[in-house]
Amino acid sequence: EEVVSPYQVGEDRDVETSLRPKSLTEFVGQVRVRDQLGVVLESAKRRDQAPDHILLSGPPGLGKTSLAFIIALELGASIRVTSGPAIERAGDLAAMLSNLAEGDVLFIDEIHRIARPAEEMLYVAMEDFRVDVVVGKGPGATAIPLDVAPFTLVGATTRSGLLTGPLRDRFGFTAHMDFYSKDELVRVLHRSARLLEIDLTDEGADEIGRRSRGTPRIANRLLRRARDFAQVRANGVLTREVCRAALAVYDIDEIGLDRLDKLVLEALVNGFAGGPVGVSTLAIAVGEESQTIEEVVEPFLVRAGLLARTQRGRIATESAWQHLGLTPPTGR
Ligand code: ADP
Repeated sequence: EEVVSPYQVGEDRDVETSLRPKSLTEFVGQVRVRDQLGVVLESAKRRDQAPDHILLSGPPGLGKTSLAFIIALELGASIRVTSGPAIERAGDLAAMLSNLAEGDVLFIDEIHRIARPAEEMLYVAMEDFRVDVVVGKGPGATAIPLDVAPFTLVGATTRSGLLTGPLRDRFGFTAHMDFYSKDELVRVLHRSARLLEIDLTDEGADEIGRRSRGTPRIANRLLRRARDFAQVRANGVLTREVCRAALAVYDIDEIGLDRLDKLVLEALVNGFAGGPVGVSTLAIAVGEESQTIEEVVEPFLVRAGLLARTQRGRIATESAWQHLGLTPPTGR
């Protein structure tokens, strides 16, 4: 299961650090985001000012962290990294903010999970470059304003819908990351193969790209698993046949659906007559957390044209029935 998870697991951390693209030009795909971001960064550099705060939104494994590092590199700025869940108290954030130097990039991953008091402190810091540190308790407590050096906040979120309005409004630019096409994944794979010195053929890349759920993190992981297989069972060359055999055990179908995607689709079609049904009901039906369904499964099924969101719940599209080898009911 872990092999096809879009979340960072086990050995990913070290390999991913070495595979991260180091500039916007090296960053594959996401053409619109890259173009827009290029303009935002270039104009800020010309004005010699920190750019507006930037929000990166999209499912896990699509390159949000990589982009945050690229933003800092392109600006020639230092980056400080933290995450929403790591900021438990407003004081943690105050310390971090007051340590920033002018022009620094502060990257907050999973920013939708930041605690409320810290979030309120963050609004003020983003807008006025100031934090109010409360000293003392009860009626004698006073707020001491401290200046924060002009910085750029880069927030990443898998669930932009969970961000409060005031926080969302304070970002000058929001980049919506989308799943990658097969051809884009093929480019990611060739790049990684070069860096990791793996002998990957065009057909092998095509095979892995098709089965990576539109997600570079999964593509890079499947590449490493195929390499292991090729070393043990073949002569080390990742041909189409070798990749196909290596990936057969992971149960990812021709259009990239993994076991959980298929379970959800089957539950929707067979258990709920194609819907409409709520996400939490679907989650219970397949024994998975709602969060995973909403953040990972649903976006991919929507993108693949198999599931649609309606006012009344999620419904299976005609293609969903066809993909499962079933005939869609008439008169729906
Ligand atoms: P996220 O923060 O969205 O979960 P990451 O930035 O950590 O995703 O990306 C996971 C891995 O996928 C990175 O280590 C990187 O090697 C690879 N990757 C992601 N996006 C791209 C891209 N556009 N081009 C090349 N590699 C990418």
